[in-house]
Formats: sequence, C-alpha cells, structure tokens
Amino acid sequence: MKKIEMVDLKGQYEQIKDQVNQSVLNTIESTKFINGPQVKSFQAHLEQYLGVNHVIPCANGTDALQIALMGLGLKPGDEVITADFTFAATVEVISLLGLTPVLVDVDPKTFNIDLAAIEKAIGPKTKAIIPVHLFGQAADMEEILAFAEANDLFVVEDNAQSIGADYTFSDGSKKKTGALGHVGTTSFFPSKNLGAYGDGGAIFTNDDDLAHTIRGMVNHGMYIRYQHDVVGVNSRLDSIQAAILDIKLKYLDFYNESRKAAALKYNQRLADHPNLITPFRKGDCDSHVYHQYTLKVIDGDRDGLVKYLNENNIPCGVYYPIPLHLQKAYTSERYKAEDFEVTLQVVNEVISLPMHTELTDDQIDFMTTVIKRFLG
Ligand SMILES: *Cc1c(COP(=O)(O)O)cnc(C)c1O
Repeated sequence: MKKIEMVDLKGQYEQIKDQVNQSVLNTIESTKFINGPQVKSFQAHLEQYLGVNHVIPCANGTDALQIALMGLGLKPGDEVITADFTFAATVEVISLLGLTPVLVDVDPKTFNIDLAAIEKAIGPKTKAIIPVHLFGQAADMEEILAFAEANDLFVVEDNAQSIGADYTFSDGSKKKTGALGHVGTTSFFPSKNLGAYGDGGAIFTNDDDLAHTIRGMVNHGMYIRYQHDVVGVNSRLDSIQAAILDIKLKYLDFYNESRKAAALKYNQRLADHPNLITPFRKGDCDSHVYHQYTLKVIDGDRDGLVKYLNENNIPCGVYYPIPLHLQKAYTSERYKAEDFEVTLQVVNEVISLPMHTELTDDQIDFMTTVIKRFLG
C-alpha cells in the first residue's frame, strides 16, 4: 500500500507532469512573469467555468477576501457577520480593515453559518455577511441572499474550500458557489481543490462596476497608469501559477469526482457506527466537493482517535480546534457562550481524514479498519 498522505500533491503532479513542466518552461522562456497572457487565459477559463462575468486573480485567498471588502466600500465601524467555525482568514481581514467582525454560530450538520444566528446578530451597523462554504459544501445561500436583500446587506462568499460545487435553488436552477453573492473569493493554496504550486487567489463578481473598482484596487488603486484614485494594494497571481492553474482547471471536475468517490467509500465503511457521524450532504451529488472529509466522533474520545491514527501512520487533522470567538485576537464582550453552543461542541468532535484525488481503495479500507478497531 502506498504511504497515506493527508493531501497527495506528488501523486497528483505525476499525472500531469509533462504538461505542467512544459507550460512552466514556456512561461519562463517568455519572461512575462507578471500579468502574462497565462493570467488572462486562466481568468477567461475560470469565468467560463464558474458562469460569472468577472474573475480578478490576486495573490492569495486572504487578499481576495480583503480586497472584496475594500471594493464594497465598507467603512470603519461597519459590522460584518461571519461564522465562528472556520479558518481565521475570514475574520482577520474584517478586523484588519477596521471593520467589526460579528461571529455567529453554525449548523451542527453542515458546519455552515446558521441563518437563525445571523438574524439574531444583525444590528443597525451590519453591512455584510460572509458565508464560508466550509469543507466543500455551500452554505444556505438562497435563504441568506433573501435575508441580505431584505436587510440591504452585501453577501461575500468565501469559496476557498468549495470551488466547483453546485448550489441548487428551490426552483431547480443551479449555480456554482462563489458566483451567488455580490462578490465571491477563493484560494489556490496548494491543498485546496484547485491548488497552485504556490500561493494564489481570485475574486469573482457579476457586477461590472465592482469588478472595475477591484481591478484597480489589486494594482495600487491605479485605473490609469501612475494615477492613484483609491488606496489599493499590490496583489497579483503570477504567470507561472496561472499557467499551472490553467492546466489544472481542466481537471477540476475530475478531481472533485475523485474526492466524491473517496467520500462515498469512507461513508460506506463508516456509516452506522454508533460513535461516528459521517459528513452530511444537504443537496445532490454535485453539491459537496469534499475539500475535507470531516467526521464527528460522538460520546467518544476524539483526541484518543487522533493519537491512535497517528500511531498507525494515518495522518488526520482537527479543523478547527478553537472557536474564533475564543481566540485572543478576536474576543469581544458581545459574545456569550450560549450563542455558540454548536461551535463549542463540534470543536471537540470533529476529525478530518485524508482527502485528496489519489486515495485508493486499499488505503481507505486500511484507515477505516483502524478507526473501527479503536472505537470497538
Ligand atoms: C484557505 C482559506 C483561506 C485563505 O486562503 P489563502 O490562500 O491561504 O490566503 C480563506 N478562507 C478559507 C475558508 C480557507 O480555507
């Protein structure tokens, strides 16, 4: 059996090695390292794939979130609601911009932001909601979009973990996550579903004016060379990363299918165990792209399982071990434990198993056998 990796980037690279090497070499030979034609090409292909009018590439997923918020023209003191149970980048950019983050609880099944909690947290200063499509599955976007519209709020989708997932509206129509709100963002961090060989990110929107604003912002606030109309940043996707991503985008659906197939195999082997809850999928089979395969260990010893898996050379992760509202950088007097019941519980229950595009049946058999041996 091949050594089990949390994410097998090497195995995935082997499959596309010749194409990638050639494209990287061509890019170097061209010496168009910044804003080369590779960036334009990838941008156009991603717009087509997502069904969105504008993709603005940038340096990473955290920048993408920051620039999206800058583009919306939010002012210091404005409140932005986001999930308590997610990676810190989302809340970090809110604070960095002098906005006030308002963290709220999540749904115990999907781990995504809970609309009832949003409704409770909204106030006169609330200007935006950032739903994070966590672990590969969309938040309840139809409900969130309707609530945002009724309350005149922007919706910024953090799609770093769910690129390629479909969201189905109640009328049956489908759209890609990231293309649903006013603006969406993603990350091309190597381990993400569409990963570069370094850092990268992108911002999506259907709004022409917002796209124009953001295009200047990523380039020092310049709309005309050496005229700085707004305060911007320097955030670019470099040409080599764009060349690699342009190749990998062609495989994104295939990669996501591999993840789904692995999730299905895990589910088949782990369902019905009294101490485990396998990942809940809210929609059809296109609605979850399994950035993570995250189990809940119930009435059990999650930390013991982590230790036992590590002893058996099975990598695993706890995403995320500490609620954001308890992190020193993000505490606030407004937060009360009873408003975070779900997050406070799931941080002690979740465990993410190896999930990537190269998992084999014998690896999944081995891992699930070891897990069942531990749980009895
Ligand atoms: C990875 C990630 C980010 C940040 O992306 P970087 O490219 O690492 O800056 C933001 N939000 C979520 C939910 C993520 O998973």
